[in-house]
Amino acid sequence: MARVYNWQIGRETSYWYPGSRPKKQFAAVFDINKCIACQTCTLACKTTWTSGKGQEYMLWNNVESKPFGYYPLGWDVRLLDKLGAQRWEGGRYAGSTVFEAAPAGERVLGWGPEDQDYAYPNVGEDDCAGGVTKGAATRIPHDMMWFFYLARICNHCTYPACLASCPRGSIYKRPEDGIVLVDQTRCRGYRECVRACPYKKVFYNALTGTSEKCIACYPKFEKGLSQQCFLNCIGKIRVAGFLSTPKEAREDNPVDYMVHVRKIALPLFPQFGLEPNVYYIPPIHVPEPFLVQMFGPGAPAAVAAYRALPKDKDLSALLTLMGSTERVLSRFRRAGGSVEGYDESGTEVIRVPVTEPAHVRAAIDVAQGVVRSNIT
Ligand code: SF4
Ligand code: SF4
Repeated sequence: MARVYNWQIGRETSYWYPGSRPKKQFAAVFDINKCIACQTCTLACKTTWTSGKGQEYMLWNNVESKPFGYYPLGWDVRLLDKLGAQRWEGGRYAGSTVFEAAPAGERVLGWGPEDQDYAYPNVGEDDCAGGVTKGAATRIPHDMMWFFYLARICNHCTYPACLASCPRGSIYKRPEDGIVLVDQTRCRGYRECVRACPYKKVFYNALTGTSEKCIACYPKFEKGLSQQCFLNCIGKIRVAGFLSTPKEAREDNPVDYMVHVRKIALPLFPQFGLEPNVYYIPPIHVPEPFLVQMFGPGAPAAVAAYRALPKDKDLSALLTLMGSTERVLSRFRRAGGSVEGYDESGTEVIRVPVTEPAHVRAAIDVAQGVVRSNIT
């Protein structure tokens, strides 16, 4: 085992290979508060990449209701349970990661889902925590009931457990953009990666005998275009880009700004130790202990920052830019009442108003002699 630095847990950790960060790292921010669980992202991915034989059960992108939804069944709670106590001392994780907790003779602490675990993609959908008791609808204040939607793809982790676990070296992380891929010509379907990925984002194809996973739509991303699940997101919750290390963070880089500068977007289960590169703006209506377990100790501050958004001009402007263009944005700038997005070459590719203008029609159309309704 090598020693590598994981900034998300604020300390060095063990990893199977020595650390070598890519030149650039693909990363994404998802604003959970805006997701409506329409599953358009899921279908955009399914129809693009996983509509073949043997791929029927594969959801490289899925959206599950938390706290009771999981795909595969119990993916997170099973591992959290195996991992034991997870303690944070400030920004430093004091428990064990999945690499540090690996049993003797294994590279990663994991578990392998059975076929049945993939049989219920909608389990727990819209089930709320807290329960609904008689009279709850009219009681003020309302009982604390909550759930939220968690959209998930492969995190293209900095320290991928899938890659660490592969005995054939079939999984690699591209140096040019940090995207993690399975070499289909090398893979022999041992399924160590399926067992090892704590996010359960590698899937075994029984017809080809190989493992398959999200490829971050690299043919598009190489051309400066966002992934299919990003482009098609109805809630405009997603933005893709390149994430710097904390020391090299740029204030004008959209993902750097949300992750490093404002710390409003947080990794999913940072305590697993993989340094995942999909970051979530946590839901603001969920009990704090749940958020801290899921997104780490930065969750309360991120929620407070989100609640203060109306007064926060730059952050509000940047959130308006999310989902407004297929182009991958490398830079953003707020200018007056608008926000502009620029691609890698420095060309402006999008400009949107921070506040949408409202057009109110007169209630009576004098020319036609009719009263208007709001429905056209
Ligand atoms: S989320 Fe899983 S499949 Fe994706 S890079 Fe990380 S360990 Fe590998
Ligand atoms: S398309 Fe967007 S809003 Fe709809 S479920 Fe997916 S992430 Fe959520």
